[in-house]
Amino acid sequence: MQAVEIIRKKRNGEALTTEEIDWLVEQYTHEQVPDYQMAAWLMAVCWRGMDDRETSDLTLAMARSGEQLRVRERLRPVVDKHSTGGVGDKVTLAVAPLVAACGVAVAKMTGRGLGHTGGTVDKLESIRGLRAALTREEFLSILQEHGLVLAGQSAELAPADGKMYALRDVTATVDSIPLIAASIMSKKLAVGASHLLLDVKVGAGAFMKTREEAHELARIMVEIGQRAGLYTEAAVTAMEQPLGRAVGNALEVAEAIAILRGEGPEDVSQLCHHEAAELLVMTGAASTREEAGRQVQEAIKSGRALAKLAEVCQAQGGDPRQIEQPERLPRAPVMSMLTAPRSGYIAGIHAERLGLTAMRLGAGRFKKGDPIDHRTGLLLQAKVGDYLQTGDPLVEIHARSEEECAAIRHELLACYRWSEAPVSSGPLIYEILTPSQKGAS
Ligand code: URA
Repeated sequence: MQAVEIIRKKRNGEALTTEEIDWLVEQYTHEQVPDYQMAAWLMAVCWRGMDDRETSDLTLAMARSGEQLRVRERLRPVVDKHSTGGVGDKVTLAVAPLVAACGVAVAKMTGRGLGHTGGTVDKLESIRGLRAALTREEFLSILQEHGLVLAGQSAELAPADGKMYALRDVTATVDSIPLIAASIMSKKLAVGASHLLLDVKVGAGAFMKTREEAHELARIMVEIGQRAGLYTEAAVTAMEQPLGRAVGNALEVAEAIAILRGEGPEDVSQLCHHEAAELLVMTGAASTREEAGRQVQEAIKSGRALAKLAEVCQAQGGDPRQIEQPERLPRAPVMSMLTAPRSGYIAGIHAERLGLTAMRLGAGRFKKGDPIDHRTGLLLQAKVGDYLQTGDPLVEIHARSEEECAAIRHELLACYRWSEAPVSSGPLIYEILTPSQKGAS
């Protein structure tokens, strides 16, 4: 086979065979196909797309390009959960221990954040001593012993994705639904859980800006899961305003702890309860949603969910006292309250712009490899639909210095839209796609 022929075929809008896709991915992984040819092929995919069979073939080829953990051969059921990411999205930090405390194992490999959406690993590393870079043996033994593991993405897992993603990042080929779906699902297949719940975020603070795009991404990922024997469901959820009230790494860990204590903000707590219950029903650990809901509430009330998070943090070298007493988490030296500049209802909080503001405080990265400051971020005092009087608390800024705090005030105020009339915040969960409901194509 020749790379140039495969590029030409895709450029002309033809479907590639399974053999052609396998060959391209394998040769590229072993550096037998150069970056410039892969870049040309990725651009052809961006323009011409891929059908479901091709996307599924690409995913499987990428999943096979490196180590495969096959966790479901050791424990069953064992679940995985993935969010496409958003501002203030600490759902994994709460859902994983909640589900594990209900007796269903959770094997989670998770990425670092780039830009305004912080990754779960960055949030976890707010906890003193916690190691997210685990060897294969550590990953599997912590999972087996504790029924939960929260690790960083291993470079050995789906290396074809690592190489392709780096190339997509610099060739304007990230925004392609088949490429995004294959990238996410290849890593999930390489971990090898038995059940997967995807949270596809849509809105101003998310990768997917429209409901249609989010639905299509969710649909194709559910389809890939089904073709590969991984039971997959996907929720399409709102990311217009930040999720919960905390934005920033240690602040989000503290909020996840509050959720596990039953004291979290309503929107994010509701989403966590929903996702945890969905995972219990999916795996058969609960026979109805009501029963699953009761199990989730019981795990919170009894303290088992929080204890599970502390237990796994300790197993990964972290200080469990910071989970039991979140006031021990790192705190920024400067805290300052921004107040409402006017009276009225909050009509919108632009998630992406607010995330970029938090990034300027040090909570996110401008480019890959930049250090982040776990202490910094924002604590929203009010959300969409709330009525404030001039001078009421709006956002608490957690910064490294007075100068950095002052530098973002104007930008932060520009994230808010106001209304004289009452405003409703809209639904949090738009739809859930299951293998039977995903719709064929
Ligand atoms: N997340 C991924 O893992 N891959 C993509 O292509 C986009 C988001």
